[in-house]
Amino acid sequence: FATTAVRAASAASTEASTTNAYGIRVSQAQGVVDQLTGAIGNTPLIRLRHLSEQTGCNILGKAEFQNPGGSVKDRAALYVVKDAEERGLLKPGGTVVEGTAGNTGIGLAHVCRARGYRLVIYMPNTQSQGKIDLLRLLGAEVYPVPAVAWENPENYNWQAKRHAERVQGEDPERGAVWTNQFDNVANRRAHVETTGPEIWAQTEGGVDAFTCATGTGGTLAGTTRYLKDVSGGKVKSFLADPPGSVLYSYVSSGGQLKERQGGSITEGIGQGRVTENLKTEVDELDGALTISDEKTIEMVYRCLDEEGLYLGASSALNVVAAKEVAEKLGPNHTVVTVLCDGAYRYADRLFSGKWLESKKLKDAIPERLRRYIVL
Ligand code: PMP
Repeated sequence: FATTAVRAASAASTEASTTNAYGIRVSQAQGVVDQLTGAIGNTPLIRLRHLSEQTGCNILGKAEFQNPGGSVKDRAALYVVKDAEERGLLKPGGTVVEGTAGNTGIGLAHVCRARGYRLVIYMPNTQSQGKIDLLRLLGAEVYPVPAVAWENPENYNWQAKRHAERVQGEDPERGAVWTNQFDNVANRRAHVETTGPEIWAQTEGGVDAFTCATGTGGTLAGTTRYLKDVSGGKVKSFLADPPGSVLYSYVSSGGQLKERQGGSITEGIGQGRVTENLKTEVDELDGALTISDEKTIEMVYRCLDEEGLYLGASSALNVVAAKEVAEKLGPNHTVVTVLCDGAYRYADRLFSGKWLESKKLKDAIPERLRRYIVL
């Protein structure tokens, strides 16, 4: 059977590729894609060589930094917009409104430009000018508003919701939607329909475990749902949590929510509640890991040094989690995680000696890796 499978795979790859003038194999599998949105997803699954050798497992990272907007959130952005279109809520020239300070806004900006919608973003005014500038240059209208808690009606998410309702009232022909990434399950569906199936196909069904951190929970819940369904429950799935998130204790205590305590240098992950995206899958998880900032920052530097991977902190946290899951399972298992985005937007912090000292994290970087502290 194995020989037949290999032969079939190599025949398929011969048909789907040619060799270019430089001797490099070029895949024709995808051909021409329909506008920018066709370039979202189908990312490579990279074997992390050093960690795989160290653990005797296959540790694989899904290269989400290769999406057009540079992060895993492009998938959710496309799905929440497509969902609104399919439900007849958006017509050409309509308005998309979201509360976000990060990657979702960037993903939505690309998708909205490509599909001809206006994009309005609300974010807490504690966010960097760099983020505001980037969203504006990608065509979004940005409103930084006072940073108040979720429970407060002036929270940026509720302001985004009201803005969409206002525009919908004024311009019902073209329509306006609040895409509501935390509780809109079109976000999770992106991963049930794309990330999960891609991982299953790329590993030819040979994945034993999946782990990743959660912001909205879309990536973890959707990928878990698909991998568990397709494998008849055999693929194990683990939540990876930064300090300051309540989900680790929620999963490990069997469903009790505690007060948030502490914080983390990671951005875009860590959650204070069980979102709609997580709700149906959270009880099916096989466990949870909490990963310290010390381990995360060391892995940012290790991935750069050992694999040439320039990763943001949430990706590095995911890689630490994958290594710990591999150690838990023992040799000869395949563990998949998500490389959510690159370090480009965080370089002034992650590679700054001053910043590392201010977070008391410089000592977490081994001597041999300190040459990467260049800012
Ligand atoms: N990493 C980064 C850098 C992110 O921006 C996000 C999204 N906030 C995540 C991880 C988590 O993804 P999800 O929302 O699917 O849980």
